[in-house]
Amino acid sequence: MDAATDDAGTFDAVIVGRGFNGCYLLHRLRQEGFSVRLVEAEPRLGGVWQANRYPGARVDSHVPNYEFSMEEIWRDWVWSEKFPGRDELVAYFEHVDRVWDLSRDVDVETRITSARFAPGDDRWTLHSEAGRRYRCRHLLLCLGFGSAPFVPDIPGLGSFDGPCHHTARWPEEGIELAGRRVGVIGTGASGVQVVQEAAKVARRLTVFQRTPVTAIPMRQEQLDPDEQWALKADLPEIFARRNAPPGSFHDLEREDVGAMSVNADRRREVLEAAWARGGFHFWFGTFNDVLMDEQANRAVYEFWRDRTRERIDDPVVAELLAPTDPPYPFGTKRPSLEQDYYDCFNRPNVELVDLRSSPIVEITPTGIRTTGAHVDLDVIVLATGFDANTGGMTTLDLPDLDGVQLADRWADGVDTHLGVAVPGYPNLLMLYGPQSAASFCNGPVCAELQGEWTVAFLDRMRRDGLTRFDSSAEDARWWSGQLAEVAERTLFGRTASWYMGANVPGKRHQLLNHPSSDVYLAQLRECAGAGYRGFTFS
Ligand code: FAD
Repeated sequence: MDAATDDAGTFDAVIVGRGFNGCYLLHRLRQEGFSVRLVEAEPRLGGVWQANRYPGARVDSHVPNYEFSMEEIWRDWVWSEKFPGRDELVAYFEHVDRVWDLSRDVDVETRITSARFAPGDDRWTLHSEAGRRYRCRHLLLCLGFGSAPFVPDIPGLGSFDGPCHHTARWPEEGIELAGRRVGVIGTGASGVQVVQEAAKVARRLTVFQRTPVTAIPMRQEQLDPDEQWALKADLPEIFARRNAPPGSFHDLEREDVGAMSVNADRRREVLEAAWARGGFHFWFGTFNDVLMDEQANRAVYEFWRDRTRERIDDPVVAELLAPTDPPYPFGTKRPSLEQDYYDCFNRPNVELVDLRSSPIVEITPTGIRTTGAHVDLDVIVLATGFDANTGGMTTLDLPDLDGVQLADRWADGVDTHLGVAVPGYPNLLMLYGPQSAASFCNGPVCAELQGEWTVAFLDRMRRDGLTRFDSSAEDARWWSGQLAEVAERTLFGRTASWYMGANVPGKRHQLLNHPSSDVYLAQLRECAGAGYRGFTFS
């Protein structure tokens, strides 16, 4: 390492990443009297919402589920939409930053590239890309589950003459889509959102689909500020509800019965009600066995398929977007929320290319060649997702106590202690990390609950005069086993999804997020209640 580094100082804790998790921890640890520094790669606020500035970017969790629950934050804030767009979310982060006065302890444009633990003094030393050095007792990684964009290895990718960008690397100045021939590769959440915008302005929009998304109606609403001011008094109770089962939404209701244990009329009634409510209700708010039982899942899929196909004029396109037989069990890939995604395909300027029958051969200077045709394009949008959960961490130079890099340790699979700690990495905690409930738990809800667990953990060490913790390999294997059982018991294990690490070639297929945030958070509480089982302290 560079001896001539710029020394940023020594702290009780360094937090890496200024999304919901980093902001919450900085605020709370400072309140508790810890010395803390937060380092963030991006120049501006917003976490994942800073980088994801592609057209149409918006959150799929409706407010007030996607916001902090502290009164000083919510009392002066109103939202304009139920599902806020990216710019409003960035403005929200600016508001949070002002209220909690976070920036005074934040270094921006500081990408951490390496970290090493010194057993001699039980401290981490971190280095940034520009050579800044930080030393700290505790390393708190809040890198986000989607901070490493994934771009497939398509021949000729760099040869395209026009703009070609991943959705999470969208240029700040934007890209003109109006009047141009636009190609979108990928139909996950980002792809759906870009398509909805591009379809309305592009001269021609070509959507390259490998696997159909099972997108469900968002039912966006414009929110009235006066109504929100009037409802402020109810917020504490609403926030309390989102922390209680069935998980991270204040208004999620689920029948505690199986889909096939009720008659067809009742089943339809429940599905219709969730469909009409919009948002994730149709995913999580119908029956208790949709993600467990094939027959129940098929019933939900068929409802989704029929309601979706009603909106698509061309039967060939309808079969590609909403196939007769489920391409995978409904809900085991993240069902994106849509506003008029399926209607876009009725426009004369929008075409769908099925990559299953005509795979991409190459990107050329003028477009995309599939086995069926060459599509001339002016702009290519890579809506190809993320090396989710692990990518932010495995791209770091992060050796364990034996000098083995994390990327190598995890090459054959991830083992963590409850998604917060990694054996061989003392004094390191991950927030919203792999094998936690991340991506099944609303970002800010999880940030508060996991954040409080972390604050209590560090406080306990401080009270007891402890300078080092380790997590046990045996417990980490046990937790991986628990997740493997969940994958087996549910329908998640049957789907090649990013939840299973299956979207990135070479990544081991294993369930990387616990699909029940309640069960996951109960495990964390139980661990704490048992004197932090699985951890050793010195
Ligand atoms: P992030 O907000 O991702 O912040 C991580 C920060 O770490 C980033 O600012 C990044 O620049 C920084 N960073 C990463 N590596 C380094 C490094 N080496 N050095 C310094 N800084 C670094 N969640 C929901 O609950 N509902 C949704 O609808 C939803 N939609 C999403 C849509 C998209 C497109 C994406 C990508 C994610 C979505 N999420 C959603 C998940 C989202 O990650 C969480 O809601 C929440 O933002 C997580 O916060 P975080 O603090 O963990 O991470």
